[in-house]
Amino acid sequence: QCPWGAPNTTSISCSLADVMSEQLAKELQLEEENAAFPEVVAVAEGPFITGENVDTSSDLMLAQMLQMEFDREYDAQLRREEKKINGDSKVSISFENYRKLHPYDSDSSEDEVDWQDTRHDPYRAAKPTTTPRKGFIGKGKDITTKHDEVVCGRKNTARMENFAPEFQVGDGIGMDLKLSNQVFNALKQHAYSEERRSARLHEKKEHSTAEKAVDPKTRLLLYKMVNSGMLETITGCISTGKESVVFHAYGGKSATEDKVIPPECAIKVFKTTLNEFKNRDKYIKDDYRFKDRFSKLNPRKIIRMWAEKEMHNLTRMQNAGIPCPQVVILKKHVLVMSFIGQDQVPAPKLKDVTLSSEDMKKAYYQVLNMMQQLYKECNLVHADLSEYNMLWHDGKVWLIDVSQSVEPTHPHGLEFLFRDCRNVSQFFQKVGVAEALNERQLFNAVSGFNITADNEVDFQAEIEALEKMNEDHVQNHGKKLSMFSSDGDPPIYDE
Ligand code: ADP
Ligand code: MN
Repeated sequence: QCPWGAPNTTSISCSLADVMSEQLAKELQLEEENAAFPEVVAVAEGPFITGENVDTSSDLMLAQMLQMEFDREYDAQLRREEKKINGDSKVSISFENYRKLHPYDSDSSEDEVDWQDTRHDPYRAAKPTTTPRKGFIGKGKDITTKHDEVVCGRKNTARMENFAPEFQVGDGIGMDLKLSNQVFNALKQHAYSEERRSARLHEKKEHSTAEKAVDPKTRLLLYKMVNSGMLETITGCISTGKESVVFHAYGGKSATEDKVIPPECAIKVFKTTLNEFKNRDKYIKDDYRFKDRFSKLNPRKIIRMWAEKEMHNLTRMQNAGIPCPQVVILKKHVLVMSFIGQDQVPAPKLKDVTLSSEDMKKAYYQVLNMMQQLYKECNLVHADLSEYNMLWHDGKVWLIDVSQSVEPTHPHGLEFLFRDCRNVSQFFQKVGVAEALNERQLFNAVSGFNITADNEVDFQAEIEALEKMNEDHVQNHGKKLSMFSSDGDPPIYDE
């Protein structure tokens, strides 16, 4: 529907004066803008991307970046040639039409601002005195109403300059251009359709970068990874969470011989918007591995530490042989790891997969085993273990999402472990694994403690007492209590 279509004469009948009144113009403007820019429909985003809806727009983004770079070089070359040909001749030849870059492709679109906000709005009279209330200026024969053809024409010309900045209106300054309403309206319509086009492109770009989670700096980091050949292509977003965005990528070639890049990679980008991390302070603040550093760091660096922590924890798990993503590289707040899944389709979470009771039982014993390994061999408590952070792939369970994992001696480590146990027990009991231990039995089985309380409240109280004991010991002796490495194995440090 054309916003400038024929007016509905049956419902609206008003005088020409009314039509031309500023008041009505304002209203029409609003109406028209609403029609031209309807609310952007949010794209529903599932946690998983299946084969049908794989988002390849970030691939597109990269292609665009490369194209832009090429175009920029091309234009620069063109400019040089233009200069050479023209020299200081009075008549010059313009190569404008051969340029590659459409104005809205330029870098400035990055920090695009609403032109209506920053520029003079032609519909909000800047100088209300030019056309006084009574609708005319001058006296007697020289009287000029605001509907005067010349005034209107000049005004229209002035308005034209307030079209979107990327819309070329030419240089009419000093020419006393007078646009008729008809011409003005036609131009305006064109300007809007151009702007809509640009808005669509822009919107696409926004979605490809997963709801602005990837800021220009991150984009550059990713771009460099592709540019260096380490990654072949970044195909799209797998997941956008509160704290991170995960992308899929095809691996490329490693710069060094000894390192092999997996054919498919997952890129976890820790969000640099800080507020989401506030409630995670407790995981890292009290982790003595990071304690000394924590106080000295600014928030941006703390976010990098989450990525770093995930890397270290994954490495520990890898060394213990626990199925988990393999770390490829860490760059600032961006962690590249092997992709669990195939052909861009991530392995399903345990909560989403339908398994035979045989497989489910197998999965349960594997999880029990992994929890023990994690505790004893890696000296870690997952601290966010649930069917959401376990993937089913290749007939086994893979653990992911370990940025918040802590050592058992963390002041709340045992509480975290108990919570993990509760999640795991409840899940496997729900899906009908008869052998599944309850959360208290599981806690003892994993930690090696023998807490006998048979109800949750007492059990938790004992856990907290244990934590307190450990803390007191740290206060008095400055090191962790040996009871945590119950089987005598020294904790594994790889940092
Ligand atoms: P969050 O902190 O946002 O939960 P996760 O590490 O759990 O971050 O990743 C979010 C989702 O991304 C996971 O649930 C999983 O579906 C997917 N994902 C993360 N890492 C990988 C990986 N290495 N391979 C495949 N999918 C992954
Ligand atoms: Mn997760």
